[in-house]
Amino acid sequence: MSGFSFTLDATCGKARTGRISTPRGEIRTPAFMPVGTAGTVKAMLPDSVAATGADILLGNTYHLMLRPGAERVARLGGLHAFMNWDRPILTDSGGFQVMSLSDLRKLTEDGVTFKSHIDGSRHMFSPEKSMEIQKLLGSDIVMAFDECPALPAPRDRIEASMRLSMRWAQRSRDAFGDRPGHALFGIQQGGLEPDLRAESAKALKAIGFDGYAVGGLAVGEGQEAMFACLDTACDMLPEDRPRYLMGVGKPDDIVGAVARGIDMMDCVLPSRSGRTGQAWTRRGQVNLRNARHADDPRPLDEACTCPACRSYSRAYLHHVVRSGEMIAGMLLTWHNLHYYQELMAGIRAAVAAGTFAGFEAGFHAARAEGDIPPR
Ligand SMILES: [Zn+2]
Repeated sequence: MSGFSFTLDATCGKARTGRISTPRGEIRTPAFMPVGTAGTVKAMLPDSVAATGADILLGNTYHLMLRPGAERVARLGGLHAFMNWDRPILTDSGGFQVMSLSDLRKLTEDGVTFKSHIDGSRHMFSPEKSMEIQKLLGSDIVMAFDECPALPAPRDRIEASMRLSMRWAQRSRDAFGDRPGHALFGIQQGGLEPDLRAESAKALKAIGFDGYAVGGLAVGEGQEAMFACLDTACDMLPEDRPRYLMGVGKPDDIVGAVARGIDMMDCVLPSRSGRTGQAWTRRGQVNLRNARHADDPRPLDEACTCPACRSYSRAYLHHVVRSGEMIAGMLLTWHNLHYYQELMAGIRAAVAAGTFAGFEAGFHAARAEGDIPPR
């Protein structure tokens, strides 16, 4: 498709590095996408998000269609102009969030009717409606509309849901049409059942998509089960298209997913945990609420070049977290997003150099050391 392409530059084991080209810019893979739920990555200016190294953001169709409304965003020039982010945006289909957030859902072959969690108003999502809303938003990467049961679920429920999602994938493809410069990704389902995952991948490949997501994971199955699923799920998807693991994850989930062949991920974790006083560093998770930081003049991470680490002490971060100051969420979100993007840059460099296994060992060794000892 013109204006959108994926180039694989190097592989190391199953880990891959490459570039997705779009008219709005290049996305270096493996890529981590910060989540801008309602047209903002909370506590961050768009320029600051870009400064952390993010090439692409994720926007949530469900939230944006309810407030401020997709037609309104379109009238105001599309989501990029509206939120002042000119790089690529991926939007989810709304399917996952309608199941997790809305009230009084009713699922039929046609789609899902639901009541808004904001004001109780009635709405309907279908593959056609989801494609229309994502087009109004103007996203660069559009996700097919799917249904995703929470795990654990009985096999017959997962099977029926996957087959419904594959029929919806075809309807999404038909409704998306031909939009040069914009991409449509299909979503593999099938829970933790390898044969259902294989059936789903086959159905998606027959339809043909610009990229393929592994859906239905990170919904409570645990890391071991997720990795076991990825061990086979990635191999079922085309090598020459990006593979996107939705809703993942913690730093060690990300490294493990890349090792199994994943190219793109998104998660609210770095931004959300930044607003609750939690920091992610090379040496694991640090809780800035903890009293041990109250007199500590050292930076959160002496090797980190983000504003929180360059200009502030642990003692200050502890103080503003405990005082509920807005700058606490701003600084820790910036640090966490910076750390995640540094992690991705390290991964990409290691895959390109053929040293990913060594990178992975070093990543786990640093975390095993734990946070710097109190002084
Ligand atoms: Zn930092």
